[in-house]
Amino acid sequence: PTDTPILELTDVHTYYGHIHALKGISMRVNQGEIVALIGGNGAGKTTTLRTVSGMMKPRHGTLIYDGRNAAGVPAHQIMQQGMSHVPEGRRIFPQLTVRENLEVGAFTVRDRALIEQRIQEGFEFFPRLRERENQLGGTMSGGEQQMLAIARALMVNPKLLLLDEPSMGLSPLFVEAIFDIIQLLNRERGTTVLLVEQNANMALGIAHRAYVLQTGEMRLSGKASDIAQDESVRKAYLGEE
Ligand code: ATP
Repeated sequence: PTDTPILELTDVHTYYGHIHALKGISMRVNQGEIVALIGGNGAGKTTTLRTVSGMMKPRHGTLIYDGRNAAGVPAHQIMQQGMSHVPEGRRIFPQLTVRENLEVGAFTVRDRALIEQRIQEGFEFFPRLRERENQLGGTMSGGEQQMLAIARALMVNPKLLLLDEPSMGLSPLFVEAIFDIIQLLNRERGTTVLLVEQNANMALGIAHRAYVLQTGEMRLSGKASDIAQDESVRKAYLGEE
């Protein structure tokens, strides 16, 4: 990790109609980091990712991605600047094969040879997908679909990868595998990751730094290992009495 920010939010407010979901949050992600964003149900984690990736426009505040203003810049444009968002619930295309899903992920890439190279790289990260290259996405297990969703997001070779609840609904073995892969991506490719998780324990285990959101406000931030030791966090999010 470096001290150079790739993403910086300052006093960001986001609304759904009159529902004030983000009440002035500030955070930064440095190049090369894994940053975890944790918090309970409805805290605003998903809204934060939607705001960052251009799916929602903040009403106030500043949002800088890769040195440029990104507040209100449409999602497709942000994506072309090297940001990839794996939404909650994965949203792979169930009627397309694994390979076709990956090709769709590369729709902004024009060079066929490069697309093929990235598919092969994806298969190296996820050997299970190679075995299932021609299987329909919708017939795969939840864990396999999550792998496919991540592999699809990697087709644009992102500088910043946003992951919304990658462990949701997965068996412990798959959760372990997904977190290993996130760590490997970060270490071997230097991919910067902003990770939203309910599974705070696992997220804090692989993150460098973390932020804790509570009802639309940032409650705490710091080194992930310190956050994991924090008593209020342990009580609220790590299932301790
Ligand atoms: P969870 O872990 O339950 O998904 P979260 O931390 O991701 O929670 P958000 O989904 O960002 O939380 O929701 C933040 C707030 O915004 C909540 O109060 C939620 O009810 C509200 N909200 C989210 N999506 C919408 C929507 N489409 N329309 C109206 N309000 C919404």
